[in-house]
Amino acid sequence: MRKITVADAMSAKPSRIGPEDTVVEAAKTILSKNIGSVPVCVGQKLVGLITSEDIVKRIVASNKDAKKARVKEVMTKNPVTIGADAELVDAMKLMAEKNIKRLMVVESGKLAGILTDGDVLRVAPELMDYLYAELEELKKDVQKAEADDLCEACGNYTTDLRLVSGELLCDECREAV
Ligand SMILES: [Zn+2]
Repeated sequence: MRKITVADAMSAKPSRIGPEDTVVEAAKTILSKNIGSVPVCVGQKLVGLITSEDIVKRIVASNKDAKKARVKEVMTKNPVTIGADAELVDAMKLMAEKNIKRLMVVESGKLAGILTDGDVLRVAPELMDYLYAELEELKKDVQKAEADDLCEACGNYTTDLRLVSGELLCDECREAV
C-alpha cells in the first residue's frame, strides 16, 4: 500500500503575506480567507508565520497601532515546517509533539503548502486503511518470527527448541522421544 504523504493532505498554494506588509493587511487576509494564520514569505521563501493570536497578543494587548506595525514585528520567525514528501503520520506526530494545529510545508526552503489538523482529518479514512495495512504486515512479521520457534512435532510455540534426530522439538516432545 502506498504511503500517505503530507502532499496528499496539505492545502497547496496558500495565501501569503510579506514581512513589510502592515499587520492590518495580515488581519484582513486572515479574516477574509477564514484562516487562523497566514505564512510570511519573501518571494517563495518562507520567513515566518503570523497568526490571529500573534495579532491579538502583540498588537491589541500592547496598544500598538496595527496600521503602522509591520508583519515582521509581530510574526513568529522560524515556524515549524515539514517536507511535502514526509509521511502524514510523522506530520501528525510533530503536531502533537509541538502542540500546534498547523505545519508549514516546504520544499527546498520554498513554501509549498499548509497542513492543518483539519486537513489531516479529511484524509483520516484513507490514513486508517493505511495504518491497518501496516498493522497487518507487522502481525505477519511477528507470526513469522514466532513460527521460527514452533515445535515441529506438536506445533506449539516454545522458547526452548532443540534439534532431536533431525526435528526441532519443544521440551515436552523431547521427553516423549
Ligand atoms: Zn512439541
